Amino acid sequence: MIGAYDLEMLTPPCDPGSERLVAKASLADDIAPVLPYLNATLPGASFMPEAGSLTWKDDGHTIAFHRHEIAVSDVDDREDAERVVEDLVDLVNRTWQQREEIVPSVAIRHRPTPMAVYKLLPRTNCKECHQAGCWQFALKLVAGEVNSGECPPLARPEFVSQLAELRSLVTEIT
Ligand code: SF4
Repeated sequence: MIGAYDLEMLTPPCDPGSERLVAKASLADDIAPVLPYLNATLPGASFMPEAGSLTWKDDGHTIAFHRHEIAVSDVDDREDAERVVEDLVDLVNRTWQQREEIVPSVAIRHRPTPMAVYKLLPRTNCKECHQAGCWQFALKLVAGEVNSGECPPLARPEFVSQLAELRSLVTEIT
């Protein structure tokens, strides 16, 4: 599947001067055929068949697979990027080798909106989650940067049904 690739380091366009970098691997091979298999096996992956791309969050990185490219956010330096990209290349190649054991999926998962998440929070702005308030917590939950367990009030009995609903809403992004 993936043979040769070129690795490039970029500064995030939305955050010039950032110490966190984006790694971009330009692939000689077209990985579009493996995307439905990755979609079937990577938890929380978001597949866009028309665009020929799939995004996935793993270990603090946002990863975008395109036909001839893998982009990874939040890498420390080139050495970190080389390690992460090599793991992803292995993942793609392994998934392709095992494709006969996987039922491919073209299902499209939609991320919940911050407002849908916000409505299920206690909305007291108590800051026990160390965020500025519930809205900021909702934004981070949708981005996969925090999880529902980091809002202590949600563990109270009066929020049991909201917590269950929230967990089912966000399982797609964790
Ligand atoms: S801990 Fe929960 S209720 Fe308190 S501000 Fe954070 S999200 Fe809102």
